[in-house]
Amino acid sequence: GPSRPLHETRLRMARSFQHIRTIFGEFVLLLLAMTLLSVVAAFHIFDGVGQAALNRALGFAVVVPMLSAVPYAIYFVVRLTGLMQHNDGLQRAATTDRLTGVLNRPGFDTVIRRHMAALGDHQYAGLMLLIVDADHFKRINDRLGHPTGDKALKAIAGALKRSMRGSDAVGRLGGEEFAISFPCTSLEQGKAVAERLRLSIGKLSVSAGKKSARLSVSIGGAFYTTPQLFDRVYGAADVNLYHSKRTGRNRTTITSVAAHGRRYLQADGQQQNQQAARLTALPAR
Ligand code: GH3
Ligand code: MG
Ligand code: MG
Repeated sequence: GPSRPLHETRLRMARSFQHIRTIFGEFVLLLLAMTLLSVVAAFHIFDGVGQAALNRALGFAVVVPMLSAVPYAIYFVVRLTGLMQHNDGLQRAATTDRLTGVLNRPGFDTVIRRHMAALGDHQYAGLMLLIVDADHFKRINDRLGHPTGDKALKAIAGALKRSMRGSDAVGRLGGEEFAISFPCTSLEQGKAVAERLRLSIGKLSVSAGKKSARLSVSIGGAFYTTPQLFDRVYGAADVNLYHSKRTGRNRTTITSVAAHGRRYLQADGQQQNQQAARLTALPAR
């Protein structure tokens, strides 16, 4: 929803503020050291001039560095804030897909790695990876033209992003293929989310001139409850995506990936499960 960018901006600002506070703290320490140094220097330089002059020299040695620090401190804070914002902008650009505004592959990898770390810390009961592939997309490009195809990709990405939470990862893996990672308590809950996504995209259409096309996606998903190699989970989801495509498109196929390398068999067809098991299972121990 609309709270996502706001949430991210807050996180970034908190991080920037932390940096600025650290640098500012170091600056204050440096200031104290410099003041001490100038006091010691004043003692030596004004040696033997008399008590009144010594007091003035000491006052001078303390006040000058303190006062001169104020404009420097303001300057630092302003400059660093600007740099942090610039840095955040670069970071966002490096992890965002230009066309659709969702995460690109490196950006998606970063978030799913965070998700897996949290899963390892038992913060979640499980994670779901969904691969979402536009149906007959070549046909949409051929009939309506590439610019309209691009609009369709934006519409799909927008629908996916709006349907998920800010902490979920929505990314474009390439072409007309998207991936989503989100914390999920059960296979059933994950299936419900995937169905919701599929149905919301099924309501979309794009048009060019008098021609228009309904959009639909096929979804393959993998649910897992322990950290896994990404390739294993991706492989399982991909096999399920292939199953969704082969059995008519505009559908979802989701299975669980077992902790020790075997997949739990789901009621999605024995043949597909055997194929999936061959592709994803580790050697038996
Ligand atoms: P399927 O239902 O089996 O997935 O069929 P499909 O046509 O969607 O799949 P296929 O992999 O044959 O074709 C994918 C098409 O997506 C071909 C390519 O031109 C198009 N495509 C990939 N990236 C972009 C893009 O950035 N913009 C546009 N307009 N089209 C793209
Ligand atoms: Mg496709
Ligand atoms: Mg594809």
